Amino acid sequence: MNWHYLQPVTIHFGNGMIACLKDEIRRLGGTRGLLVTSPSLEKNGLAARLVADNEKTLQTVYSRVSPNPDVSQCDACAGLIRQNGCDFVLAVGGGSVLDCAKAAAAFCTAAAPASEYLEKKRPLPEAHLPLIAVPTTAGTGSEITRVAVLSDHQKGLKAPLNTPVFYPATAIVDPELTYTVPKHVTACTGMDVLCHAIEAYWNIHHQPVCDALAIHAARLVFRHLETACEEPENALAREKMAEASVTAGLAFALPGTAAAHACSYPLTSNLGIPHGEACGLTIDHFMRINAEKDTDGRLRELAFATGFDNACSMADAISELKYRTGLKTSLAGYDLTDDQLEKLVQASLHPNLQNNPVPITEAMLRDLYRDLR
Ligand code: NAD
Repeated sequence: MNWHYLQPVTIHFGNGMIACLKDEIRRLGGTRGLLVTSPSLEKNGLAARLVADNEKTLQTVYSRVSPNPDVSQCDACAGLIRQNGCDFVLAVGGGSVLDCAKAAAAFCTAAAPASEYLEKKRPLPEAHLPLIAVPTTAGTGSEITRVAVLSDHQKGLKAPLNTPVFYPATAIVDPELTYTVPKHVTACTGMDVLCHAIEAYWNIHHQPVCDALAIHAARLVFRHLETACEEPENALAREKMAEASVTAGLAFALPGTAAAHACSYPLTSNLGIPHGEACGLTIDHFMRINAEKDTDGRLRELAFATGFDNACSMADAISELKYRTGLKTSLAGYDLTDDQLEKLVQASLHPNLQNNPVPITEAMLRDLYRDLR
């Protein structure tokens, strides 16, 4: 088996680690930065605190990034970078903020709109500004990946863009910044972590370094997610979920994600289901499908390593975890018509589907969505 491993992002992890921001800006030679963030972090005072602490280097702020960031928000950030002559970008927020900022830090180097990159009408830029990524959710791992997921809400499109140019220069992961995350967002983002770990592990591009990271992350989610949901200021649970998020990010950064993520994009675009909840909706179903053809025993090993007797018990535990953390376990309530269901099937035929160890056909997707309906 041949494999390669690459991780170019400097990671600083720990409670209170946001204090090293000033040093990181200095280390990167930043003199004039754009702070990209979301309304919730403007409201809770974090954005203002960071601007006050770094008043010489952070003069420009964009705080309107919404969940599933739109290409227009990315264009607004790229415009601010150009107008203000910024030489670095600081992203503070959930995966939506990080992705918007990652894309803007590259798209600002050319005058083309983000929609043209999303629709693959032009190649992604090769230049970019240095980016410091500070996640405030424990979920996406975006702070260490080369992926940015953007949406064009007008066109009903959501898709990941992937280029080494999107790697942040530095990730500052401070678990204390996640204490204010609401319970449902904690559950959604935690399920995203579990899906990253599992889909990195059973991915057809799996490799041993990422396998080890994936197992570590999955074990942490089973141990700590429920507590993080129930006790938002539980320091151990928040720290371990932040650790799980980064290690799961490192696990999937190279192999990529698989079928549950392929299905998540239309579940979010068509039905508005938050990203992590959308991934979690199908992950236990794909686990049962994959367990039936586990010829090399890898899935059984994953189940053992995370504390279960077999893959079916692990799938059951995921279903229970979803139920206990208040996540959807079906699409009941959407009253999906046959036409809507077929649209979900067609839009789930995303390239990530092909990373699943068992080939997933259109008919299998149709059956899965019918079961969920
Ligand atoms: P999010 O960034 O959309 O945030 C969800 C909500 O939580 C938002 O309203 C946000 O303002 C709020 N929030 C964030 N941090 C908070 C805090 N500390 N306190 C209070 N509220 C807070 O959610 P997410 O799950 O982190 O990111 C999802 C996005 O990331 C999706 O678009 C998904 O497709 C993408 N994603 C990207 C990658 C990648 O590698 N780039 C990987 C997985 C997912």
